[in-house]
Amino acid sequence: MSWSNCESSAPGFRGASGRRRGTEARSPVPYRQNPMAYEPEVLCHCNPRRKAPRWISWSRANPGRRYYSCVNAMNGDGCGFVQWYDSPLPKFFSDLIGDLRDEVWRLHGQDNVPPVSVEQVEECRDQFVLVEPTVKDLQDQLKEKSAEIAALKGKFEKVVFIVLVFVFGVVAGKLFAF
Ligand SMILES: [Zn+2]
Repeated sequence: MSWSNCESSAPGFRGASGRRRGTEARSPVPYRQNPMAYEPEVLCHCNPRRKAPRWISWSRANPGRRYYSCVNAMNGDGCGFVQWYDSPLPKFFSDLIGDLRDEVWRLHGQDNVPPVSVEQVEECRDQFVLVEPTVKDLQDQLKEKSAEIAALKGKFEKVVFIVLVFVFGVVAGKLFAF
């Protein structure tokens, strides 16, 4: 199925040519399959003819729809060969994939928010579970030490009181001796 020159139906081969601009230049998801890893091979019209990579379109009209394009289109030239691989998607799915694509791009645009993986979250939780008993242990130890300090303070006050009484007694004894 070759396609016409209708611009609205064109796949995202601006991406394949490396000439896309801004956020629309990026595929919202990594390719699961290398664009060249498909069989049987589809050849473009170059001389000699070459295997055409199979890309995913992220255009507004055909998001998620796969197509072949001339491998030299990546360098900005080539024979201009372009051919759809997938039939047009039902509008519902096409709109849905388009919305998901926009949402992924929107999230990627928030540069200050690094993506957090499930693994990272689980690792943090595991570390917390490991650290939590240690914290409780330290809190208990702190309570014990505080109680000891309070007891020592009480003892110290008693000793100071006894010393003061003793000194007072000595001084008073000396005063009365004269
Ligand atoms: Zn070509």
